[in-house]
Amino acid sequence: MGIERLVPIDTQGGAYVAAHSAGYFHAPYRLSVHLYDAVFWVRCPCATTRFTVGLRWRRWVTLLVETRAEKFEISNGFVQSLSCIAIEPNAAPVNTAGPATQIIAKHYVLAGGSINSPALLLRSGAPDPHKQLGTRTFLHPVAITTAIMAKTVSAWDGAPQSIYSDHYLNTQPIDGPMGFKLEVAPLHPVFFGANLPGFGEKQAELFRQHPNANVMLAMAEIQFEAGAKTVYPGHEMGTGTTTLADTKKTIEAVSMKPLLTKIGSAHAMGGCGLAGDAQRGVTRRDGVHWQLENLSILDGSLFPTSIGANPQLSIYGSVNRLAQGLAKRLTGKEVTLAQKGQPQRHRAAELG
Ligand SMILES: Cc1cc2nc3c(=O)[nH]c(=O)nc-3n(C[C@H](O)[C@H](O)[C@H](O)COP(=O)(O)OP(=O)(O)OC[C@H]3O[C@@H](n4cnc5c(N)ncnc54)[C@H](O)[C@@H]3O)c2cc1C
Repeated sequence: MGIERLVPIDTQGGAYVAAHSAGYFHAPYRLSVHLYDAVFWVRCPCATTRFTVGLRWRRWVTLLVETRAEKFEISNGFVQSLSCIAIEPNAAPVNTAGPATQIIAKHYVLAGGSINSPALLLRSGAPDPHKQLGTRTFLHPVAITTAIMAKTVSAWDGAPQSIYSDHYLNTQPIDGPMGFKLEVAPLHPVFFGANLPGFGEKQAELFRQHPNANVMLAMAEIQFEAGAKTVYPGHEMGTGTTTLADTKKTIEAVSMKPLLTKIGSAHAMGGCGLAGDAQRGVTRRDGVHWQLENLSILDGSLFPTSIGANPQLSIYGSVNRLAQGLAKRLTGKEVTLAQKGQPQRHRAAELG
């Protein structure tokens, strides 16, 4: 898959060095930075995703844009067709009364993600004899602290999400209290803005400090160790503090009310879980729907449970494997979709 271990880079506010000196386990992620010769940014929720999603363009591919897959027509254990509607850029239907595009195929691949794949199957009335469809949907709840560092960080640049620590996963007994992961997030403007407290001029003033900002899920201690001048807890009432003791006091003092406390999640998993038998899941181990012979589901909805780590690389890995198997079954030929390639070196730095 072109996934290589990268030399850590210093767009993470010195977090790599600071995690080390504060005594936390830490490691650089293995990131896929191998891009294909023609790349389509099919989706870009964050720098990481945009960075790593690529499609090799083939003449036989028809890409329907501003189109929503609405409903499968299903009978006799097969998907017979897929109805699609045209949508506006804001996702509103162009004309609900108008004719739908019908797609008729030998085999269908559903890859709408953990919310939309089960949703499409539910509104299509897909068979679900064991009531598994749309169940076991998992999220990783996330709390964030934002730090303004003394020096420029440019946390939107370089290989994103290259620093993490499993200290609080690896040091706990496996059957003990639930652990948590510490991460440094890639910081594009929307993500940064969503985590800043306040509105108007107060928020604008913080926004001006974007080049010096670092966001961690969720550890003020490491940020101060890395030289943060000010740290803001992820809370609407959270004020910036300049020492760890004051940050802890602020976190203790603020009210943990919904909408004030900023808990986010971008890791939806499950909903069409893989299972070894039809009673316990929606898809077989080869990614094919247990009750629909010509439908494969190839996305994060396949996870039977939360994987406890950022899901994207695991989605790529499992989908690549399952898609190769599917292509082989459909064509009778060996197919290699993603290959190990030469990684691009993005601002490799001296931190090592
Ligand atoms: C802000 C943000 C930051 C993230 N950061 C990280 C990270 O750093 N590391 C990491 O590992 N993961 C990260 N993730 C999670 C990661 O992006 C997802 O886990 C991953 O993209 C899920 O892949 P998927 O193929 O299951 O679904 P998706 O990537 O969601 O793909 C589903 C696609 O189907 C399309 N679709 C849905 N319904 C329909 C329909 N009815 N008709 C037509 N098209 C439809 C959607 O538009 C989308 O393009 C982040 C996510 C977000 C939102």
